[in-house]
Amino acid sequence: PPGGWENVMAYDSDNVFAQILRGEIPCDRVYEDDHVLAFNDIHPQAPTHVLAVPKEAYTSMEDFTQNASDATISALFRAVGQIARDLGLAETGYRILANTGDDGGQEVPHLHIHIFGGRLLGPMLSKGA
Ligand code: AMP
Repeated sequence: PPGGWENVMAYDSDNVFAQILRGEIPCDRVYEDDHVLAFNDIHPQAPTHVLAVPKEAYTSMEDFTQNASDATISALFRAVGQIARDLGLAETGYRILANTGDDGGQEVPHLHIHIFGGRLLGPMLSKGA
């Protein structure tokens, strides 16, 4: 890739979720703790569509699972479960998703966990293998 492989993981501080975390642009917040911020997706694809992001700067699952502390990883996934319960999804069910890299279709280069719920969500992927 342009710039070489050492730059693949470089964090872009101008990404939209970094701007939200800095308070430079608004979000519709649904949850916050010391490690995690969660807000409604601006283009919801389900009645509930929330994005949970770590407050620390990680580009993706690839970066996060290599470089985040156990405490940070734990905090994010504990928060995702708590958010789902807070939003009333625990009983009806929900889906989480982390698009990662090019094949994953990741658009915003700050790790985010999508939380979908509020309707029967249908097939796991839109197309087969
Ligand atoms: P992806 O990187 O493909 O997992 O998806 C990025 C998601 O971020 C999309 O669902 C967008 O609708 C959402 N998004 C982009 N900008 C904002 C924003 N300012 N506030 C909330 N959600 C956003």
